[in-house]
Amino acid sequence: MSASFAELTAEALATGTLSGLPDRHFIDGRPVAAASGRQMDVCDPGTASIFAQVAAGDAADIDAAVLAAQRALKGPWGRIVPAERGRILARAAAMIRAEAERLAVVETLDSGKRLVEARGDVAGAARAFEYYAGACDKLQGDSIPLGPDYLAYTLNEPAGVAAQIVPWNYPISTLARGLAPALAAGCAVVAKPAEQTPLTALMLADLLLRAGLPAGTFNVVTGTGPGAGAPLVAHPGIDHVTFTGSVVTGIGVMRAAAANVTRLVLELGGKSPVVVLADADLDAALEGVLGAIFENAGQICSAGSRLIVERRIHAAFVERIAARARSMKLGHGLRECDMGPVNSPTQLDRIAGFVDRATARGARVLCGGRRDVDPQSGRGWFFQPTVLDDLAPDDEAVTSEIFGPVLAVQIADDAAHAVELANGTEFALAAGIYTRDFATAHRLAREIDAGQVYINEYFAGGIETPFGGNRRSGFGREKGLEALRSYCRVKSVAARL
Ligand code: ADP
Repeated sequence: MSASFAELTAEALATGTLSGLPDRHFIDGRPVAAASGRQMDVCDPGTASIFAQVAAGDAADIDAAVLAAQRALKGPWGRIVPAERGRILARAAAMIRAEAERLAVVETLDSGKRLVEARGDVAGAARAFEYYAGACDKLQGDSIPLGPDYLAYTLNEPAGVAAQIVPWNYPISTLARGLAPALAAGCAVVAKPAEQTPLTALMLADLLLRAGLPAGTFNVVTGTGPGAGAPLVAHPGIDHVTFTGSVVTGIGVMRAAAANVTRLVLELGGKSPVVVLADADLDAALEGVLGAIFENAGQICSAGSRLIVERRIHAAFVERIAARARSMKLGHGLRECDMGPVNSPTQLDRIAGFVDRATARGARVLCGGRRDVDPQSGRGWFFQPTVLDDLAPDDEAVTSEIFGPVLAVQIADDAAHAVELANGTEFALAAGIYTRDFATAHRLAREIDAGQVYINEYFAGGIETPFGGNRRSGFGREKGLEALRSYCRVKSVAARL
C-alpha cells in the first residue's frame, strides 16, 4: 500500500523532506551517478531550505544518455509495433494515477506550488500519456494520386532522439506533454529538467521503465542549464529539441541547435492579455482574471498577466479584483492556502525589482507589492498578489514578462482599442476574451495575435488543444495531434509502376 496524501504531507512537513527520493541521473534504465561525482542541492521554496540532492550532470553524462537513447532506437524501441507502444503509454498513464500522491507531494516540495495544483499537474501528466497512447497506432501517412503510372505515399518516421529541456514552473506536466507525443511517434528521449525542480522527471523515468518502456528509451540527466542543458542541445546525436523556458535562453538554444541543423520547438515567454468587455459576465471574468494571474503564483508562460478592461467598468472591476487579491492567504504549498511561494530567490528578486521600479515611477499599486513569508514558519520566498492599475502601453510592467503574481491593468475605450492594446507587446502566446457577444468574441479571437485564445474561460482546453506561441513567444506547437507532427519526419515515396 502506498502512503496517502495525509501521510506523505505529514512526513514532508515534519521532516522537511521525504524518504527515498531519487538522487542520481536515470540513464539506460537505471540510476547513474554523475561521471564527475558531483551533486547539487534542491530547495523547497516554501521554507527556503534544502530538501534533496541530485546529480550535477555535465557533457559526459549527456553523452552516455544520448548513446543509450540511440541504442534503444536502433534496438528494442525501434522494433516495437505501434500498438504495443500505445499499451506501454496507457500503462504509464494508469501508473501515474496510482502513484499520484507521492508525485504530487514531491512536485509541491520541489516547485513550491500548492498541493491542489500539483495534483492537477500530475493528473494532467497522466492524461497526456492516455491521450497519446491512443494515437500511436493511428499515425497514418497519405497515399498520393500521381496517376495510373505511379504509386506514391508518405511515411511518418520518428524524428530520432528528442531532447526535452524543461522549466521549473510546471515540471511534470511540461515534461509529460513533450515526452508522451515523442514516445508515441517512436522517438527516444533525453530530458534535462530544470535544476530547481529535477525530482518528478527522475520518478517518471523509473515509472516508465516499470510500465514496460525498454531501457534507454527515456533518459533523464539532471544539472544546470550551462552544465547539462547546453551540451544536450548542442549534441550531434540529438535530432529534435523541445525547449520551454525564457526568451533569452531560447535564443541561445536555437543558436546551438542551428550548428547541427537540429529541428526544434520553442515555447517561450508571454505577456498574455485578458480582455474584459463591459457586456461580459463579470463574475465569471473576475474568477478568470484571478486564476489567470495568481495560479502558481503567476509563474505560468501563458499567465493572463495583463488585464485589458473596458473603461466603463474599469474602476468597479479592478476594485473587486484587488479586494479578492488582498484576501488571499499565502502559505506553504502543503498547507491550506490560496497562493504558494515563488520558485527561487532569483525569481523573487526579479519580481520585486519590477514592482519597486513601477512604484518609483508612480504606478498605482492597488494591492500587494511586497515580499512575504509563510505565516507558520516565517520562511520561504513569497510575493504578495499585486495589481498595478492603469498602465501605459509602453510601461515595462506591460511589455516585460514578470513571471510572478503581478497583474498589469490597461484601460481600453472599446473592443477595437482592446485589440490594439492586446497586440502591443512582442509576445503572442495566449489571450483571454470575456464578452457575451458571440460575434465580438470570435472577431477578437481572429484579430488578437496569439497561439491560443480562451473565450469566457481562461485556460480552457487541455491536452487535446494545440499550444504554442507566435513572435517572441516561440514557434511550433505542443499538445493535440499537432504535437505528434513535431516528432515525425515525413518521407514521401514515389514509384514508377
Ligand atoms: P529561468 O531563467 O527562469 O531559469 P531558463 O529559460 O533559463 O529559465 O530555463 C529553462 C530550462 O532551460 C532549464 O531546464 C534550464 O536549466 C535550461 N537551460 C538554461 N540555460 C541553458 C542553455 N544554455 N542550454 C540549454 N538549456 C539551458
